[in-house]
Amino acid sequence: MSGNTNKFTVIDSSRGIAPRPDTRLDPAVRAHLTQLQHKAEGRDAHGILELALTGEFTGKTAVVSSFGAESAVLLHLMATVDPNTPVLFLNTGKLFGETLRYRDRLQDTLGLGDVRSLSPSLAARQAVDPEGTLWSRDTDACCNFRKVVPLNHALAPFAAQITGRKRFQTRERAGMQPVEFHEGRFRFNPLWQWDLAQLEAYMEAHKLPRHPLVEDGYPSIGCMPCTRRVQAGEDYRAGRWSGLDKDECGIHVGVDGEGI
Ligand code: SF4
Repeated sequence: MSGNTNKFTVIDSSRGIAPRPDTRLDPAVRAHLTQLQHKAEGRDAHGILELALTGEFTGKTAVVSSFGAESAVLLHLMATVDPNTPVLFLNTGKLFGETLRYRDRLQDTLGLGDVRSLSPSLAARQAVDPEGTLWSRDTDACCNFRKVVPLNHALAPFAAQITGRKRFQTRERAGMQPVEFHEGRFRFNPLWQWDLAQLEAYMEAHKLPRHPLVEDGYPSIGCMPCTRRVQAGEDYRAGRWSGLDKDECGIHVGVDGEGI
């Protein structure tokens, strides 16, 4: 991100930002969601994190982080509320080595006390992708067994999750709200209204370590086989699943719509 903020185009967050009501929600859940959305009104990112990590959600919320290009911002903010919040990190087995080292560095720098690395089981790898090449044939199936299934399993004990999703990132995310309800739990998006310039300013102000691949031309970083460098003028996430009609891994798609 550093030095690259102005080189890439981003999704216009003014498009399609009206909330999409989900008629499938249980009335009690809908009422609870409405209450939380009212509480979130006017709060900044830190305030939304306090809502997600204290009071009724104390000990019941996990952060989902990719330890990618912008992850340090959310994790730094989270650590100011509770550094021992569980942080769920998907180690798909296909990540850049730089991402694994960056995870370790941020964990130490920010004093994160409960980073949990999630991977598909050996049995699942042997059954679904014994040669480790499924990504080349079926990215949705690969993301499902390497990301969606392990994350759903790890999230099971939690009532809520916190994501680093932002409206500007994709068309799908342009409609997100600060609090949502997705697949059985509340989902808080403290950075929902942030743009690249705000993220950059926060990184600078707090002297946060950078993911080493950002300076190398990767403004959005996922698995190695499915991430390429982005050229000047391309969309900020053009390097993710390049050439495929896919811009989400399935983890965060839902009622209203991150970053892994
Ligand atoms: S991003 Fe690519 S390698 Fe990673 S889980 Fe999805 S398809 Fe597989």
